Amino acid sequence: MSITSIARPEIQALVPYSAAEQIDATVRLNANEAPLPISGDRFRRPLNRYPEVRPNRLGTALATHFGVAPENTLVTRGSSEAIDLLIRAFCRAGIDNIVTTAPSFSMYRHYAVVQGATVREVATNPDNDFAIAANDILEACDSNTRLVFLCSPNNPTGNLLERDVLIKILEARNSKSAIVVDEAYIEFSGTSGSTDLLGQYPNLIVLRTLSKALAFAGARCGAALGPPEVIRMLSAVQAPYAIATPVSECVEDALQESGIQEAASRIADIVSERERMSAALQSFWFVERLWPSAANFLFLQLRQAPHVLEQVRNDKILLRDFGGDLDDCVRITIGSQAENDQLLTSLERVSR
Ligand SMILES: *Cc1c(COP(=O)(O)O)cnc(C)c1O
Repeated sequence: MSITSIARPEIQALVPYSAAEQIDATVRLNANEAPLPISGDRFRRPLNRYPEVRPNRLGTALATHFGVAPENTLVTRGSSEAIDLLIRAFCRAGIDNIVTTAPSFSMYRHYAVVQGATVREVATNPDNDFAIAANDILEACDSNTRLVFLCSPNNPTGNLLERDVLIKILEARNSKSAIVVDEAYIEFSGTSGSTDLLGQYPNLIVLRTLSKALAFAGARCGAALGPPEVIRMLSAVQAPYAIATPVSECVEDALQESGIQEAASRIADIVSERERMSAALQSFWFVERLWPSAANFLFLQLRQAPHVLEQVRNDKILLRDFGGDLDDCVRITIGSQAENDQLLTSLERVSR
């Protein structure tokens, strides 16, 4: 049985938007477009025309890149849009809930609130490197848990989800919840993630993005990977023409062999800088704890965090601090070697 059967009934019944036909070598008087592009339009598909309803070439290129079939792939405006589409498609307002871990990515809660879904958070333990325990997740689920969001590597803590934990959750929730693994940082982890489990588990959905390792945050491009029925349902919810022509064309170009090679070498640089920074940061008196990271950032607990952050800010460097629950914790993105050195120099100036 498809996991779409637990989606909102009106979404299961939703008929995709019927767009104006687009057929090559025809006179297009059916979409109220301008007949001519602006002078200087430099795109293969001129911008006076709507993009394809769903970007076919880009979808195929991304599917190939992620090692899945095109029918398992929905191209989204960043993976944030995929989070939004999933919650809107699966959760009935005021009735259903999502389960996720804490601390984790704040967008799961954000879009749940927008949709009127409840959020159930499972605390993870800093003394255990924030590891996710299958039993804790399963205990938090009830019959209205439509989605479980698991972030691996987790933002902001940097830890990977263990594969046997994921499998246990997939099997225990089977047709009761869709399990969404957010792999925004997987390229930095030295592991290939969980896309290979897609064929085996009809309740698995994997989110990937080009915003981090592929250096395309400004293009807003990501993907939901999952069973064809789920992809078709999410596609019916997504706005027609969601992916703009400039985005499609520049991402298609970046996914050529040379672009992938360049990305691989940049990822290797970030990983080696992460290890250098991790070692260097340990030696500062105000670094209380520094957790292992499989991502392009480090998560630390500081003594006198406001004092440290003030020094760094005076030196015009921004770090991410987490007030409230994560008092004294900061997330440091791994930058270029020069930027990382700048941070170390600034930290050396922190007075006792
Ligand atoms: C950055 C990030 C994303 C992706 O955001 P985009 O919308 O693709 O830019 C998704 N999940 C997590 C955990 C992230 O940190």
